[in-house]
Amino acid sequence: MLLKSLASLLILSSGFALGQASKAGDSAPTSEPKAPVSFDLSAIDKTADPCVDFYAYACGNWKKNNPIPADQTRWGRFNELSERNNYLLYADLKAAADAPKTPLQKKYGDYFAACMNEDLANTLGVKPIDPWLKEVAALKDKKELAALVAALHNSGIGGFYRLGSTQDQKDSTKQIGDLGQGGLTLPDRDYYLNGDERSTKIREQYLAHVTKMFVLLGDSQEQAAAEAKSVMEIETALAKGSMARVDMRDPHNTYHIMTIAELEGLTPDYGWKTYLATNKLSDLKTLDVNQPDFFKTLNTVIDAESVDALKSYVRWNVVHTTAGELSKPFLDENFDFFSATMAGQKEQTPRWKRCTAGTDRALGEAVGQDWVARNFPPAAKDNMEKLVKALEAALNQDIQHLDWMSDATKAEAEKKLAAFRDKIGYPDTWRDYSKFEVKRDDRVGNTARGAYFNRRRSLDRIGKPVNEKEWGMTPPTVNANYNPSMNDINFPAGILQPPFYDFKIDPAVNFGGIGVVIGHEMTHGFDDEGSQFDAQGNVRMWWTPEDRKEFDKRTDCEVQEYNGFEVAPGQNLNGKLTLGENTADNGGLHIAYQALLSVLAKDGTPLDSKIDGYTPAQRYFIGYGQLWCENTREQTSRMRAKTDPHSSGQWRVNGVVQNFDEFGKAFSCKVGQPMIPAKSCRVW
Ligand SMILES: [Zn+2]
Repeated sequence: MLLKSLASLLILSSGFALGQASKAGDSAPTSEPKAPVSFDLSAIDKTADPCVDFYAYACGNWKKNNPIPADQTRWGRFNELSERNNYLLYADLKAAADAPKTPLQKKYGDYFAACMNEDLANTLGVKPIDPWLKEVAALKDKKELAALVAALHNSGIGGFYRLGSTQDQKDSTKQIGDLGQGGLTLPDRDYYLNGDERSTKIREQYLAHVTKMFVLLGDSQEQAAAEAKSVMEIETALAKGSMARVDMRDPHNTYHIMTIAELEGLTPDYGWKTYLATNKLSDLKTLDVNQPDFFKTLNTVIDAESVDALKSYVRWNVVHTTAGELSKPFLDENFDFFSATMAGQKEQTPRWKRCTAGTDRALGEAVGQDWVARNFPPAAKDNMEKLVKALEAALNQDIQHLDWMSDATKAEAEKKLAAFRDKIGYPDTWRDYSKFEVKRDDRVGNTARGAYFNRRRSLDRIGKPVNEKEWGMTPPTVNANYNPSMNDINFPAGILQPPFYDFKIDPAVNFGGIGVVIGHEMTHGFDDEGSQFDAQGNVRMWWTPEDRKEFDKRTDCEVQEYNGFEVAPGQNLNGKLTLGENTADNGGLHIAYQALLSVLAKDGTPLDSKIDGYTPAQRYFIGYGQLWCENTREQTSRMRAKTDPHSSGQWRVNGVVQNFDEFGKAFSCKVGQPMIPAKSCRVW
């Protein structure tokens, strides 16, 4: 897995609150979820004025009629689709667990069955993690810490920092070692450092949670409280040394090629040679140390803390990482803090949902082969390829017509666009899982072996040629992304369905749906981050200084604009954190609209023709708006404002349409109405 973030369409609600608990006896779905539809007339609230609050117009009735299910923290059209994909996947997994027909089905069927075995988990209690706890207990000297951390990282247990591989951002043909900050349990460093009342309260609740988990491991209350205090102290120190999320958006800030000796210079009291040797990387000469200052801080932490305190921190990482797979008391306590307190979730997620998603994460390209055969017709792939070409042509037109960009920069931008690679549906060749051993009676072991399998896949890439055909997302995933080093756009089969894409509906709705999604991913190639990479996927300034100044002026406008949008009382969006996504949303809506106009002209469709009482332009904007209908729990809105580079649904709609004058024309709005402000922003 890449450590550096890719620009994706969204983060699903499971991103943070993984490993939730389940109730006994809830292990089967009761009914098949209904398939979402594109352009939902019943979602529209005609009492709202589209020129005043377009989101309320497009989604008002949907929001009223779709309260958040008790086992969710956010409920939107994305979730409708991903829940349905998950259900269909569940049917495949259940069949494979009961009566596998192929060796691959036997493998993922066993993985799923092991996860579903609640009785076994409850019987075993803490036993599955005993070997790791013993390893931690055996630590006598700080000099042995690196060997212990290496062993745990190899089993998927986090702590302190992360190591993987990445493409060299200055030479995208090379794969290099990638070492990044880590070691925090709360979602962001701000949770440790902010002095406001809300943050202080969360820290108190977190401390109580860590204490309870140590008690569940068998420690006395007093001992557990002392251990939790050490965990908090170490994580707070690591948070202070961590780079802020916003600063990591600039690729220059996280690129520092260093020799192993230089790394040892940052953290002299840590056994890097031992750590690397345990990861079969003894011959490694250099790597990218993303945040050198963090590794200086790590040294300070190791020096300042006692062996016992460091052991408490590592032990915490063992139980926290595995809590979702242990017996009921661990599940419940983990749910109470991370899902209920932090995210506002009311009820535990049913086991079948967690096990389906977990099997997809671990064996996605095994499970996906059967899923795609059943759910993704070849015609869908052909149509999608045509749509992508139409959007590429529209973006090319858009670039050519920009009045603020010189011909020299335009030529470079066009070169980059022409070099885009499109990945649609699923990979040409499937991942080989033969080295991943799955046991039907060992859930915790399966997860650890899966983590090791993925870690080796990542670390074994170092020094090897880049495999351009590899996929990062599994086929049933409802998401899309752009990878700046690969300069590719990716659309898994999971998203190529209603409400995003329906080959039976009029083009206006499809362009407002998957068309904008395609345009969004393409625009990522030209947002604050992507625009620093060239056609070959290398960080290089291909802009003239004057053009770059003009670009910055326009992105600054968006930063200010989105800083002003509120998502919960007293909590606004962070315009810098969400800049890339907002640029992509705005660009996507412009480009897909141009592509739609070309198609309508070619088809001879009059612009004033109506379906369901709406013109093509109106259907386009409503189709777009309805992608983002959602209800979100307040706690989750607050957490996302600090961590999610995507704006909330309301602002993904209203923030974007108010920057696009074609929207005002489509709904006959007047300048000065909220959706047609006198001042608006535009980058692409
Ligand atoms: Zn995106």
